[in-house]
Amino acid sequence: MALAREIGRKDGAHKRAVELLKTAPLIDGHNDLPWVLRKASGGDLVAYDLTKVHPETDTDIPRLKAGMVTVQVMAAFLPSEIANPATVTLEQIDLIRRMEALHADVFMPVRRATDIAAAKRKGKIGTLISVEGTVGCEGSLAPIRMWHQLGVRLITLCHNGSLPWVDSSTDRPIANGLSNFGHELVAELNRLGIIVDLSHASPQAAHAVIKASRAPVVLSHSNAHALCPHPRNAPDSLIRAVAESEGIIMATFVPSFINPELWKRIEKIKRAHWPNADPAVIAALDDPPDFGPLPPATLAQFCEHVEYLLKLAGPDHVGIGGDFYGGPQPVGLEDASVYPALFAELIRRGHGEQVLSRLAGANFLRVMRRVERVGRTIEKEHQPAPKARVRRHARRPAASSRSAAVLGTVRMAAAKPKSR
Ligand SMILES: [Zn+2]
Repeated sequence: MALAREIGRKDGAHKRAVELLKTAPLIDGHNDLPWVLRKASGGDLVAYDLTKVHPETDTDIPRLKAGMVTVQVMAAFLPSEIANPATVTLEQIDLIRRMEALHADVFMPVRRATDIAAAKRKGKIGTLISVEGTVGCEGSLAPIRMWHQLGVRLITLCHNGSLPWVDSSTDRPIANGLSNFGHELVAELNRLGIIVDLSHASPQAAHAVIKASRAPVVLSHSNAHALCPHPRNAPDSLIRAVAESEGIIMATFVPSFINPELWKRIEKIKRAHWPNADPAVIAALDDPPDFGPLPPATLAQFCEHVEYLLKLAGPDHVGIGGDFYGGPQPVGLEDASVYPALFAELIRRGHGEQVLSRLAGANFLRVMRRVERVGRTIEKEHQPAPKARVRRHARRPAASSRSAAVLGTVRMAAAKPKSR
């Protein structure tokens, strides 16, 4: 199997892309490698050996290096309905910290914006820990503060399932967008200087967060809904609001978020396979066993999303969040080595280096600095940390007790064991 870095044209544009990425930091907003490692080896990093190429999946040290990645946001992802979410969140943070320690010659923990320039200077791959889904805070701010202590600097408020405090774009709403605790959570993330990520949140929840947040927000792995109407993609009004917050939308490689024909085909197959499933959760259902041949998503189609976002949001408000998750990827965007080829394609399409260096990482860096500054400002206001809640939210009901009307009868059988 040829690696993506061995494909692609090695023309003048490719040379210029490589030169660009030698100086401009490349910051990718989302990678599910920690979940892939948990599934593949139970988190045994020595047995898995990230120093080898793993052609069965998409991310390892050789290909991150070939991809010229300066900072990879590593997601401590967990499915919304998993048992013991508080423990699993910590296990995934622990896995990332163990990965950093085992490969200390390669990875460098990124805890503040100034670490990014240091990673670039030292030729290391910066790892910025995100938590994808706050189900593991169990309705309390104390775990959020402890995650910050452990190095978490970006939090995706929810995943495919709605939580009592924030609604997901791929589930029935249960929080009316953002609950009172959801508002407290956003305020605490601002105070701690953690980047708020609205990928997966419903548009209603996302707009409520933007209104409440004192700091810029990001969509760490979402595309344009206008080009591909998958519910995980952002409508124009949300993209504009994120840009007005001084935040960014990071375009993603997930094939069904890129190609509308592919998304429509998958929806149709899922509806036929699970006729009783709730339409609100169809997108979050796992893939049926027999998909048959599907139209591919391509690098060119991905570039169309980037160009749409650049036009709508402006070049200061777009980034890249590949979302490699161990599953199928678009043609030309197969693995973590593809970034030089991707930037070469954008150069061929006429984009200048000013725009591309912002897209690569300067925009994310600006957001991170600004989020840190807001945190320091709030600290100067001498606002004490709010107490952990005494009155707890009810836990998200156990899967078996949730009504078929809410989840669809097959949701749990099909709960997706991976992130998108
Ligand atoms: Zn995701």
